Parts: sequence; C-alpha cells; structure tokens
Amino acid sequence: MKNRKTTDLILAKIKEYDKIVISRHLRPDGDALGSSKGLAAALRASFPEKRIMLASEDASENLAFLGPDDGQPDDAFYSGTLLICLDCGNPERLSNKKYALAKEIIKIDHHPNIRPYGDIMWVEPERSSVCEMIADFCMRYKSEIVTTGEAAYFLYTGLVTDSGRFKYSVNGDTMRVAGFLLDKGINTELLFAHLNLDDFSWLKYKSFVYRNMKITPNGAAHIRITCKTREKFALTSEQASETVYMMESIKGCLIWLAFIDYEDGSTRVRLRSRFVQTNRIAEKYGGGGHEYASGATLRGSKQINSFLADCDALLYEYKSTHEGWI
Ligand code: AMP
Repeated sequence: MKNRKTTDLILAKIKEYDKIVISRHLRPDGDALGSSKGLAAALRASFPEKRIMLASEDASENLAFLGPDDGQPDDAFYSGTLLICLDCGNPERLSNKKYALAKEIIKIDHHPNIRPYGDIMWVEPERSSVCEMIADFCMRYKSEIVTTGEAAYFLYTGLVTDSGRFKYSVNGDTMRVAGFLLDKGINTELLFAHLNLDDFSWLKYKSFVYRNMKITPNGAAHIRITCKTREKFALTSEQASETVYMMESIKGCLIWLAFIDYEDGSTRVRLRSRFVQTNRIAEKYGGGGHEYASGATLRGSKQINSFLADCDALLYEYKSTHEGWI
C-alpha cells in the first residue's frame, strides 16, 4: 500500500478540522468533478458534525448531470479551515481564488509534481485519476470513511472518464477500486447513457471534423478549430475541447491534437498520443501534462506549425526506431 503514512496524515487532518473546503481545477473534467463531489459526499456521510463545502468558481455543461456545487463560501468561513485541492497541478489553476485564506492545504493529484504546493502532498502520477486515489482512500479507511452510493457514483464517473473508459493508465489497483465502488450499487446504465449519448447537432459537428482534419506525413492527426467554426456550430469552449477525442482511433496516427482558437488570439492545443510519449513537446511550448495527454497555450500560426512539425518529427523518429505500434 503506497504512501500509507501520507494518507494516515490526511485522515488525521480531516478528523482534526471542523471546517473543510474541497476545491479542484478550473474548467473541470470528469475527474475534477467526480473526485471533488465524491470526497465531499463521503466526508459528509462520515463526519456529519463537520461543515464541508465544495467551493468552485466554475462548472461543466457536459457533466451537469452530476448536479450543482455548493458555491463559494464567504471569507470568514475560511478562518481555521482545511482546504483539500484535487486534480490540480498548480494553485493558479484552482477554481478557487480564495484558497490562500485556508489554514492548511492538502494537495491530492495524479499529475507530475512539477509545482509542489500545500502543507501535505499526496501525488501519484501513475494513477489513472484522482478519483482512483480518493476511492482507494475510502477503501483503505473503510471502517471510518462511509462511501455512500452517491459518492461511489461520482468517483466512478471520474475513474471511467479519465481512464478513457478503462483504456489508459489502468492497473490492478484501478480495477480493485472500481470493484469497491461498483459494490456500492452504481447505476452504470444511466451513467453511460449520460456519458455516451450525443445530440444530433453534435454528430453534424463530428462530421465537419472528419471532413476537415488533416494528417501529417508521419501520422499526427490534427485540426484547428477557429473562432468562426466555434460560432458556426455554437460550440462552448468545453465542447470545442472535446474535438481531440474524435481523432483517437485512427490506425497509424499515434499522435492526435486539436488546436482551439480563442477570441484573445491564443490557441489552446490539446495533445494526445499512444505508444509515444509527447508531454515534452507541450513542455517545450510552456505547457505540460501527462506522458500521453498534455497541452499548451500557443500564439499564432507560426507557433502552431512549429508545434505540428515537432510532433511529426517525433513520430518519424519513433516509428523508425520502434516496432509493434499500431
Ligand atoms: P487537457 O488537454 O486540457 O485535458 O490537458 C491534458 C493535461 O495537460 C492535463 O493534465 C493538464 O493539466 C495539462 N495541461 C494542459 N494545458 C496545459 C498548460 N497550458 N500548461 C500546463 N499543463 C497543461
């Protein structure tokens, strides 16, 4: 059992504080939402006498089925408070600008620990998701932490989405905690209906992407989504971000990336890959992330073309020195 001393300390801190604030990263995905809502639900059930707030300044439209958050408490609430930050590599990316008001901060994350922060850190980059870590925490201390059906539903949502439906970074631990959560009685039929079903208008957008995407000579699938395209399809920023997943299952395309333009002239690149690790390219452009899922913010076509050329060169090098890729 890894990092037992750290998780013992986290449990002790949770018991010590009467007020706990839970926060996550901006523009939340399934893991940020699932882990924050799941931990809040489990702690409320376990310690009904404590005041536990899920404080976030933004939400997700796609995952609105998970329900609303608590909103931001006033400054006074923060005095003598323990703040638990989930799935957030650096404090600037927190969806809680009041985080520094807390008395103590715990960072729980599965991103590489490039920007350490907080008084206690539990960081395991090899984990599929922070939901896996929180579910493991609930399982480890099951005599003290009550994992309700609701908490399990939230945590399973993040586990399923951040692992790409159990495709990425999955090992025995992932499946053991998945089993633990499923034993709580999750309505998986409803969950997958929420996650998988599309509006017809979304299919129209998908067809646009498949007609307009391009592939570099060595197999990087890519598309740039301009502000005009976003307007044409009435895409929210979150929907535009989803574009990258449409290119993930093309044989020979080991790298796929979407460039999303913003009104301020910046372009957010979402970079994904299989077999070949690509986060170094994102880092070269001031971004970062996981080995196979990273991103950066770029400016202008020159930088976009240079980013693409780096991806293509990496693929050339990888394919000419490795076998067994598909
Ligand atoms: P995304 O494509 O937004 O889902 O990001 C994938 C991963 O890359 C996440 O773990 C992010 O934290 C990380 N990432 C994305 N953009 C940046 C950035 N500009 N700087 C640092 N990390 C980033």
